[in-house]
Amino acid sequence: MANTGVRIKGKELGMEFEPSINLTGLTANELTTFVCSLGEPAYRARQIFAGVHDRRLRSFADMTDLPSELRGRLTDQSAVATLKVESRYVSTDGTRRYLFKTHDNRPVETVFIPEERRDTICFSSQSGCPLQCTFCLTAQLGLLRNLTAGEIVEQVIFALNDAYGVGVKPPRGTNLVGMGAGEPFLNFDALIKAIRIMAEPSGLHIVPNRVTVSTAGIVPRILELAAIPDRPHLAVSLAAPNDELRDELMPINKKWPLRELLSACKEFERSLRPNERMTFEYVMLADVNDADEQARQLANLLNRYDLRAKVNLIPHNQAEPLPYHPSPPARVETFREILESKGIHAFVRRPRGRDILAACGQLAARSQAHPSQQSDNF
Ligand code: SAH
Repeated sequence: MANTGVRIKGKELGMEFEPSINLTGLTANELTTFVCSLGEPAYRARQIFAGVHDRRLRSFADMTDLPSELRGRLTDQSAVATLKVESRYVSTDGTRRYLFKTHDNRPVETVFIPEERRDTICFSSQSGCPLQCTFCLTAQLGLLRNLTAGEIVEQVIFALNDAYGVGVKPPRGTNLVGMGAGEPFLNFDALIKAIRIMAEPSGLHIVPNRVTVSTAGIVPRILELAAIPDRPHLAVSLAAPNDELRDELMPINKKWPLRELLSACKEFERSLRPNERMTFEYVMLADVNDADEQARQLANLLNRYDLRAKVNLIPHNQAEPLPYHPSPPARVETFREILESKGIHAFVRRPRGRDILAACGQLAARSQAHPSQQSDNF
């Protein structure tokens, strides 16, 4: 079992330690192995798994179906909640942003977006991000570190509990998007593991069909994702219709230019299920990438590869000190119409949670808030 971790001994001395094993990041099978290594029967693992992922309990003390002696040993040797919530912001549109700190004091942000028919949780895969997209605030943090599978799952458990109450079954469906801070495909193993854990029917039971992961274009991982039988949906951030502009806006393009990226998408297309499409995200930056000519170029590019895809146009969210402005709504609409006229399905994504810096590209671990927002500090 990977990362069984180091015991926290002498936590009381105030030293920084590797975390003890985070049970939230174990698959049901791994948890069984762990529980058996403690000399306990396998059914205890099922109880703990249900306690963490179905009842969404955040401490062993609450798992009162376990003998107290075992709860004590588990508390000594392991953890179920390692993220500490530092702030919680609620937008006027109901969107919530959580700013957590990891055990080693790294920021993690998660966004809960209520919608009429379903709710969406946007999780982070890394603390900070190593990519240097010029329009995104997260880039300013640089990469702090990859998150573990447990830290990814914890974000979702916390958001569900906060939205509905501890262990309360979500009243609507829950969608997950890996579109928070970080580049999910640079933390691929932890990402896929977290998605597997969250799919477990005896736990959160959020099936991969309800999950979308977004990449800036890490080509080898797109191909790897295609080969996973029970995989999530794919979204790819484009931001530009040609290499010259994309090199500038998304430097990762110098490593994997559009030709390689779209060829990988073509390959990925073979793994699409009936009625499934992949998504291209296109952030709309006023006077940078939103001209009629660029819409035609984008349509021609996508048509050249004849992909089963749709385009989501994302008006740029304010991200001072970055030197960009959102395209005006009429410009976005004209851009969308040009794409449609050339046979490309295009949608405008409504920004959510802008007032609390929770929208796309605004996650930069900021704890200051707009005066209109409610914030609870924990
Ligand atoms: N690294 C991944 C996951 C982040 S997803 C990726 O790049 O796909 C975040 C999405 O928000 C991406 O599509 C990105 O292009 C977009 N985005 C980044 N900054 C933005 C901003 N300031 N306004 C609107 N969208 C932005």
